[in-house]
Amino acid sequence: MSEPHPGGGFRPTKNMKWTKTYIPTLREKQADAELISHQLLLRGGYIRRLASGVYIYLPLMQRVIEKFAQIVREEMDAAGALEITMPVLCPADIWQKSGRYDVAGKDLMTMHDRHEKEFVMCGTHEETVTSLVAGEVKSYRQLPLNLYQIQVKFRDEIRPRFGLMRGREFLMKDAYTFDANQESFKNSYQKMVEAYYTIFKRAGLEVVKVEADTGAMGGEAAHEFMLLVDTQAGDQTIMFCDKCDYAANIEKAEFKDSAENKTDSDELSMETVDTPGAATIEDVSAFLKVKPQKLVKTLLYMADDKPVAALVRGDRELNEFKFKNATGAAVLRMASAAEVEELTKAPVGFAGPVGLSNVKLYVDSLVSDAKNFIVGANANEKHIKNVNLGRDFEASHISDITSATNGDCCPNCEGKLSTKRGIELGNTFMLGTKYSEALGAKFLNSDGKEQPILMGSYGIGITRTPQAALERYCDDKGIIWPKNIAPYLVQLIPLKMDSPEQVKAADKIYEDLRKAGIEVLYDDRNDRPGVKFNDADLIGLPIRITIGDKSLKDNKVELKARSEADMELVDLDKVLEAVQRLAEKVN
Ligand code: ATP
Ligand code: MG
Repeated sequence: MSEPHPGGGFRPTKNMKWTKTYIPTLREKQADAELISHQLLLRGGYIRRLASGVYIYLPLMQRVIEKFAQIVREEMDAAGALEITMPVLCPADIWQKSGRYDVAGKDLMTMHDRHEKEFVMCGTHEETVTSLVAGEVKSYRQLPLNLYQIQVKFRDEIRPRFGLMRGREFLMKDAYTFDANQESFKNSYQKMVEAYYTIFKRAGLEVVKVEADTGAMGGEAAHEFMLLVDTQAGDQTIMFCDKCDYAANIEKAEFKDSAENKTDSDELSMETVDTPGAATIEDVSAFLKVKPQKLVKTLLYMADDKPVAALVRGDRELNEFKFKNATGAAVLRMASAAEVEELTKAPVGFAGPVGLSNVKLYVDSLVSDAKNFIVGANANEKHIKNVNLGRDFEASHISDITSATNGDCCPNCEGKLSTKRGIELGNTFMLGTKYSEALGAKFLNSDGKEQPILMGSYGIGITRTPQAALERYCDDKGIIWPKNIAPYLVQLIPLKMDSPEQVKAADKIYEDLRKAGIEVLYDDRNDRPGVKFNDADLIGLPIRITIGDKSLKDNKVELKARSEADMELVDLDKVLEAVQRLAEKVN
């Protein structure tokens, strides 16, 4: 009874009869769920919403989560990571120390205890784990170390949506590595990357690893593990090269510009022109009869409340992630209309770099290559032609701050970039020493010298991942679970519970499969076959066994994979083997 089936943990004591568990399926479309995966979890009786972004996991979901968490545990353990549990509620002062208290802003839920000490509901645990290690690790002999947990996270997300995909309370596996030197760190990082591939593969999910922005996490480099989907759930845009293996989140993707904009003409004299009624790039380029790429947009932002401007070519989009990294600001926001008017002394839409004092100018590399471009004149309905960097204004900083787009050239080869959509299931961050320095996690190296520990952090969405899977694995009737994260492997359906023959056959199959360690959900309801079939398709267990009078007369039952249209007839005494065979075959 204790032998695990391919799905991982087996809990023989758990009831597996429909009437004794709780699976509140719903017929109607749920108004508050935009995504198919969210619909299916609600309608299949997997989850219920308690508040915005806060869900209760019902018995079926509980089993799915346990299955996936178990896979994650096994692979983390195999990679040498040690499981611990850190509190959700942590003292705010460590978040102050790391500097993330302010960066996290309103995402960070805070509260005071009865002694007026401030606490935070952790949305991630770098601070907590680093303070732990700071108190424990003294010598290089105690390294490397990899600690992980599967724990509740809380983030007061600005737009909780899509059910478990972007909740406020959710489950995450978070691992943290501690190493004495770069070589050892690289090895630790690589081990996590490999564990991730194995985890998602075991869960039946094909993922792609892409380069990612390090964002608020800080640190040197990062990767994300994406499930590619072409539904609205894919809230991440990924750039792929059609020739080499370059793949990066658009937040980070580099590119070579394909537009022909290089001009070696002489610098012409500046000229202020009237552009009545034209405030947008389209308006101005139409009015002046030039291509948008002749124009340069001046976008005003506040970087930690100091005014900055991004100068990007008219045909390209500012990439706020690259821009924020260039400014080094903890908090970057667009300037308000009032701030723009105060800084430029003109209405919104006419900002330009010439004479714009007190504003640091961040110039995109493509602008720095251009000559004789057109900018706003910091005056109502006026632009300036033939503006040149270095002659007419100075840049505080020049770097790539725009987004790659479809058709741009790959940064690594001559291939072309194109976009796909994905859902981020997990990520890996090279943190460097940001947290160990801030929180004093140091060790003595073999020469007796004190050094900060090199860190990495590694997340996987334990509740997001199973829902994301459904964006890929479903049809118009319901869910099609990958077998290793399905709540049960088999759904057993006697068509008539008032037929003693059918019940006898069902009971026998149920016991035989259970004895072999296979999880079976026995639909023992006294309902019409149609109801049972609809529910079976909806909740999506990988394998269905149907017992009806017709085939039972020949001592046979029907066996069907949820993912296939066809069924096969199987001898009553060969059901176990047939189920095992089919289980091997399905995803
Ligand atoms: P995102 O860009 O989607 O907001 P993130 O970069 O904030 O994700 P991390 O902080 O690194 O993500 O969290 C690690 C993992 O936790 C993510 O890869 C994702 O699977 C999961 N996760 C993050 N935020 C949520 C959320 N609000 N709801 C459910 N799962 C989440
Ligand atoms: Mg986030």
